Amino acid sequence: MQVHYLVSITAPHTHLVQVTLKAQRDSEQQRLQVFLPSWSPGSYLMREYARHIRTLSASTLDNIPLSCQQIAKGTWEIDWTNSPVATQAILDFQIVYEVYCHEFSVRTCHVDSTHAFLHAPAYLLGIKDVALCNPIIRLQFPEEWQNVTTGLEALSKYPHCYIATDYDQLLDCPIEIGNHETDTFYVNNKAHHIGFYGDIFPHVYDLRQDIQSLVELISHTMNSMPYTHYAFIAHFIPRLYGGIEHSNSAALQFDGRKLANRKEYIRWLGLVAHEYFHTWNIKRIRPTELAQFDYCQENYTRMLWLAEGLTSFMDDLFVLRAGLCTIEEYLEKIREDFARYYATEGRRFHSLEDSSFNAWIKLYRPDENTANSSISYYLKGGLVFALLHIQLLAFGKKIDDLLHLLWQAYQENPSTGVSLSDILAMITQLSNANLAAQFHHWITNTDEINFADFYQKIGIQFVWKPESTVWLGIEFEPRVDKIIIKSLRLDAPAYQSGLNAGDEIIAVNHQRVTLEDMQKLDILIPYQNYQFLIARSERVLDIDVNTGVKPDTLDKLLIIDRDKALAALL
Ligand SMILES: [Zn+2]
Repeated sequence: MQVHYLVSITAPHTHLVQVTLKAQRDSEQQRLQVFLPSWSPGSYLMREYARHIRTLSASTLDNIPLSCQQIAKGTWEIDWTNSPVATQAILDFQIVYEVYCHEFSVRTCHVDSTHAFLHAPAYLLGIKDVALCNPIIRLQFPEEWQNVTTGLEALSKYPHCYIATDYDQLLDCPIEIGNHETDTFYVNNKAHHIGFYGDIFPHVYDLRQDIQSLVELISHTMNSMPYTHYAFIAHFIPRLYGGIEHSNSAALQFDGRKLANRKEYIRWLGLVAHEYFHTWNIKRIRPTELAQFDYCQENYTRMLWLAEGLTSFMDDLFVLRAGLCTIEEYLEKIREDFARYYATEGRRFHSLEDSSFNAWIKLYRPDENTANSSISYYLKGGLVFALLHIQLLAFGKKIDDLLHLLWQAYQENPSTGVSLSDILAMITQLSNANLAAQFHHWITNTDEINFADFYQKIGIQFVWKPESTVWLGIEFEPRVDKIIIKSLRLDAPAYQSGLNAGDEIIAVNHQRVTLEDMQKLDILIPYQNYQFLIARSERVLDIDVNTGVKPDTLDKLLIIDRDKALAALL
């Protein structure tokens, strides 16, 4: 079916976007269902975008109303058999709806007086069980807005008119409109557009050049550039962080005040490398279950460790390989990853497969207990792919060889997706069945892995710092008026003593305490009993709390053989 969307932003300060969908049904189609997705590929949470629809109606192009009833939270049915007789022979129809767009993330729409960021799954209706053929989208927006950045193909016959191959591609192309900063660089004669919205504090880096270096390195690593043009859309907004990948674009959010800080800048580059590498891994190389999307319900897969773990391992490595950070800076980032890993008790309960399958209700819906019951497939997945890379070195191979096999398999069968057994077969091909079995164990089990032994093989030593300071194992809410426990680490002293998430700490041993006291703990000593006065559900009560000692911390990933380490990583 040919569908034309007119997206009209006439009063951006109201955050409302009006969409007019025009199409022509076949004469035998007496009923059609239209839907708004509930989730976005790349972000595994039911977001129920339809909750932002204010009004929706269907009519002929002459505005004769058609029967249009909402039949599910995100689905409407147009029924010509229930519509005025005069409409029944008319095949053209339109649906007009308004969407409220005021949630600023890479997975939602945000429209205000300064710009519009349009994330397609959040506002473009699809037609159930009907393939859209070359859908066209036309944008109307305030004339003072000068720039549009998107991965969509521009149609020259109308201004601000774009075309996609199908609904999947349409959903995969966010659009940034406004007076944001734009730039373009070329790699392999392909245009890479940049659209930067927001504020950046003065810094010493060349963002465009560094993005280009990453594009050159990553596309060279993959021996391909599977798009005609690419768009980097970035929002530089205080305290925002995130990214989402698309087939030929990426939406990124970062705190633009922090780019002057070298560590933060390297983190920004890691984000760019991450989303750009997804062009291959997940946008094209996909787990079988994600080969085709069902936008209205959860699409379960046990393989997000491939999509996100492999990408998390590669992103920092690409920054290192591009010469944009030193090996010491790289290893400090990896040390921080390990510190987070060892502080996540949930690794004892969820394998990477479990963690992936539960993404919809765990990783994307974190609560006080998430870290005690699950482990991020980004985090552990990245650490495990590092081990696979180290193990492959013994066979004269490296992770790049696996990437090439994955890419080759995708090119041979673009629509079928890749399974765990496919990956195990590739690892066997590159090494032997033992390594494939070892990798399988890391993916499917929760046994503690001795990471240090593997890193030793590439000349890097884990250096632990013995701790003797007092510890409770509490995270606090970031509030200034009250000391509220946000979460407790499983089996840590506070947890064992019976403190709860949500408790307000009022006093210790009958003395008032401050949040700073409780975070520093410099008024307590280890292995001592204290009487905590707390408020729980408005009841005030005393709890005996026994303090403990902080677990040893991973202090450094020390390079003991520099040549070996560099040879292994570069
Ligand atoms: Zn990712």
